[in-house]
Amino acid sequence: MPSLVSVAGSERRLRDPNPTPKLLGVGFVFLLTRAGLAVNMGLSENKAGWANLPNEPEYMRLIFLGPPGSGKGTQAKLLSQRLGLLHYATGNILREAIEKDTPEGRLAKPYMANGQLVPDELVNDIVNARFRGTDKPTRFVMDGYPRTLEQALSFDKTLKEQSLGLNAVIFLKVEDEEIVRRNSARWTCTNPECGATYNTVFKPPKQAGRCDICQQSLYQRDDDKPETIRKRVQLFHKLHADVLRHYEQQGLLAEVSATGDIEAIYAGIVNALGTDRK
Ligand SMILES: [Zn+2]
Repeated sequence: MPSLVSVAGSERRLRDPNPTPKLLGVGFVFLLTRAGLAVNMGLSENKAGWANLPNEPEYMRLIFLGPPGSGKGTQAKLLSQRLGLLHYATGNILREAIEKDTPEGRLAKPYMANGQLVPDELVNDIVNARFRGTDKPTRFVMDGYPRTLEQALSFDKTLKEQSLGLNAVIFLKVEDEEIVRRNSARWTCTNPECGATYNTVFKPPKQAGRCDICQQSLYQRDDDKPETIRKRVQLFHKLHADVLRHYEQQGLLAEVSATGDIEAIYAGIVNALGTDRK
């Protein structure tokens, strides 16, 4: 499976489906297209962000893919803040539609209220409606969507219809056992009145297996057990193999290692986005 998704991320350059005339400098276009000067100044001051992307067109349309625990959400959020992109995460997609009381949102509401999974088709409908609206996002980072090939095909169709080309699909790569390690670090207090949680990597209890607050023993919930997480990882690979191959065939896929600290991973992403000169 890894061979299917193996792309030299750092080597590939950002695709530019609708090239901006070269005479218009990025900063100039950016000033024209961004409303607030303060926002622009904030971004231009940010060395790790826009300033490091000298050849970028004025838009940026990205999809982030990665297994649970890859830090995908963190990186998508960071990129959205630094580059001024709409961070469109699965949860937001659904919540927004429900809050705006759109026809699709009304259909999704009972699923959300009952804690059920919203059917793929309905999620597609919500995304499609959002991207066909008058306030459709033109600069965005998708986080958690599309998660299946069917969703990817549906999203392709809508983007094409709206003349919105994708720049890149970033896959944050983490070894399976590392995913298991990151996701199985959570331990919960057995005392139901306490319920404190610990993370053996980031927030370990002072004494192993014992709650700092009430001194009761700690246990791992089924969801946090390594065998459960291994199953989730398998499911992730099964679902995403087709999606990754789909974007690889379009020359959009860039694989970035998601190990190291947040800024190191971010730098890897910026690099994969096609800066060919340093
Ligand atoms: Zn406790």
